Amino acid sequence: EAQNERESLLIVLGFARDFFVKNLQTEEGKSIGLSYFKERGFTPAIIEKFDLGYALEGWDNLLKAAKSAGFQEEILLKAGLILQKEGDASRVYDRFRNRVIFAIHNISGKPLGFGARILTKDKSQPKYINSPETPVYHKSDVLYGMFQAKKAIREKDNCYLVEGYTDVVSLHLSGIENVVASSGTSLTEGQIKLIKRFTDQVTVLYDGDAAGIKASLRGIDLLLEGGLNVKAVVFPDGEDPDSYSRKVGSQSFQEYLENNSRDFIGFKIGLYKEEFTKNPIRKAEIIREVVQSIGKIPDPIIRSVYAKEASGLLGIEEDIIHAELNKILLKTQ
Ligand code: ATP
Ligand code: MN
Ligand code: MN
Ligand code: MN
Repeated sequence: EAQNERESLLIVLGFARDFFVKNLQTEEGKSIGLSYFKERGFTPAIIEKFDLGYALEGWDNLLKAAKSAGFQEEILLKAGLILQKEGDASRVYDRFRNRVIFAIHNISGKPLGFGARILTKDKSQPKYINSPETPVYHKSDVLYGMFQAKKAIREKDNCYLVEGYTDVVSLHLSGIENVVASSGTSLTEGQIKLIKRFTDQVTVLYDGDAAGIKASLRGIDLLLEGGLNVKAVVFPDGEDPDSYSRKVGSQSFQEYLENNSRDFIGFKIGLYKEEFTKNPIRKAEIIREVVQSIGKIPDPIIRSVYAKEASGLLGIEEDIIHAELNKILLKTQ
């Protein structure tokens, strides 16, 4: 039964993917959706590679098409493609309307859900609408772009982690294919396990704003706890990997990544450079923060390698770092 339901859901989600992709070639799709993608520099090849699509204006375009193709409302609801009207559950309508569509695939390339971006700067509506959790779409186990990235992640033995759908697509356009997105939510254990199937090295490329830096710090600790080797890059304020790569071009962007990748210790010290050199109390706090992160690393040998590095970079005796580490490790046991 459950297996049957999963298969039906994958079939209807595949139908929706095809529908959104085809919509992009209609008159409305070309003048609104395709021109939006073009403005962002997306090529026909990249649009095809990522199953990018368009949800037409109107309340029931997908609903009607799916029903004519023989799908029941019940399965469309379960797949998260339609919604019930508040106060009148017998009335249903399309979840995704008048937006460009990003298909979210499993690692075999089957769509599990969709992200949909608004086309205007209208702040009264959410910029992105995403599929809900469903029996096939477990958000905590999925990373956007993994299907298109997995081969390159293995080959490069590194995975770039970005925040957004468009960051993934833009990096591919810049020739970087080993990239996945956490899609604006904080990283989960399931997502980390997924990455570990392909590599044990992650480089975090979150947005260059306060929220992005905060999410980087949280993500780094989770990745360290997962036993991964972590690096991070900070972008200039207000830039994300998509905007920055388009601003400077793919050659300079790749150089920027190479020249600005720091391990987590260098990343943390870099964030607080000023305070670190000028304020001894803040310096002590920063040292403690670095040691906290080292304490997350499960492997004692790797931990001690970082303790040594931290000692050098922070200008503090290794014994003191080890003493602090021991305190933390005792607490968490
Ligand atoms: P764009 O470049 O199109 O503005 P972005 O990816 O840079 O998009 P961010 O605001 O940086 O957008 O958000 C990062 C990611 O977080 C998005 O790609 C999306 O997955 C998710 N997200 C953003 N806003 C929302 C929202 N209002 N509801 C749900 N998810 C969102
Ligand atoms: Mn952001
Ligand atoms: Mn962004
Ligand atoms: Mn962006």
